[in-house]
Amino acid sequence: MQPKDLLALAEEFGNPLYVYDATTIEQQYNRLTAAFSKVENLRINYAMKALSNISILKLLKKCGTGLDTVSYQEVQLGLHAGFTPDKIIFTPNGVSFEEIEEVAKLSVQINIDNLSVLEHFGAKHPTVPVCIRINPHVMAGGNQNISVGHIDSKFGISIYQIPHILRIVENTGMHINGIHMHTGSDILDIEVFLYAAEILFDAAKQFKELDFLDFGSGFKVPYKKGDIETNIEELGKKLTKRFLAFEKDYGRSLTLAFEPGKFLVSGAGFFLAKVNVVKQTTSTVFAGIDSGFNHLIRPMFYGSQHTIENISNPKGKERFYTVVGYICETDTFANNRQIAEIKEGDVLCFRNAGAYCFSMASNYNSRFKPAEVLWKDGKGHLISKRETFDDLIRNQIVVEV
Ligand SMILES: *Cc1c(COP(=O)(O)O)cnc(C)c1O
Repeated sequence: MQPKDLLALAEEFGNPLYVYDATTIEQQYNRLTAAFSKVENLRINYAMKALSNISILKLLKKCGTGLDTVSYQEVQLGLHAGFTPDKIIFTPNGVSFEEIEEVAKLSVQINIDNLSVLEHFGAKHPTVPVCIRINPHVMAGGNQNISVGHIDSKFGISIYQIPHILRIVENTGMHINGIHMHTGSDILDIEVFLYAAEILFDAAKQFKELDFLDFGSGFKVPYKKGDIETNIEELGKKLTKRFLAFEKDYGRSLTLAFEPGKFLVSGAGFFLAKVNVVKQTTSTVFAGIDSGFNHLIRPMFYGSQHTIENISNPKGKERFYTVVGYICETDTFANNRQIAEIKEGDVLCFRNAGAYCFSMASNYNSRFKPAEVLWKDGKGHLISKRETFDDLIRNQIVVEV
């Protein structure tokens, strides 16, 4: 998207504002499916926790994705958006047994990542097919916060516990129809991914009635200059070859599934916020915007570095800024960052604001959540309204004691 289009949207819909480019989402989907075009049964389940607006879900449904969900409410949202239960997989962690049962009742594929739950579920519902989430214990990358494959991770059933899984299956007579892994969102190179995949193939051999293998996500998208991006085309080539060979050995046709969030929507998103104040101190220049970690928490939560542009003055001379929010906490979006010269009232644009941005927004400091706009064919469509005071007090019950 062009700065002038974004600026016009900020003018039309106000600040702060989330904008999503529909074409980028479609292109990312097409790129992923093209990379695996030789796989006959490919299934892309969009990890909807990244961005769960209904219009975005409908757009991805039109592309042809299924859904990866992590809560009963996400399943409900998916059904509400028009996905049929057979297009949804439920991959929760640490939820109650009752929640898993409720989702299974809707005929949604469930994915279990805990031995005690597997045993309980298998004993109670032996006819419901279940996928199991394996932890291959592969360190996905550099950032401990989002590496979920390591030995002490809370995610998945350890690959070393396969004998115990097999015993549970035998004891309960349950049917395992899928094997799953998700090694986190910080995989640095595809060799690591392929290494984990080998572990999954090895595990899969021990289950005779599988319908699918699910390789989760972990596709890396670049946030700042110099960041590594997963080479999807190369991964597609290499993994397809291994998958087809495995399928032949296995003697049964299988679906290859992925569940990307970030890869599909991160780069499609832009967050726009106005500069309230420019403040010189003894050592830096702060640009304070009309937002904070209530709207975009990734920089403070994960240390994510979203590229920031001054779309009001894109050609301006670059200066160094510390970009901060208006929350009464330290909420630094960027430290000592080169940005085209900023004046009060300018609109800053944060890139890669599609995944885990709006979906992590809160009302801290009693601020409203921003509006969201979907950009398609040169036009902005409002897909969620800016909150109002009524939204803030809707669930409150006033008692004066
Ligand atoms: C969050 C999540 C994903 C998506 O991860 P991305 O990094 O956004 O692609 C996929 N699978 C599971 C189980 C998840 O929890």
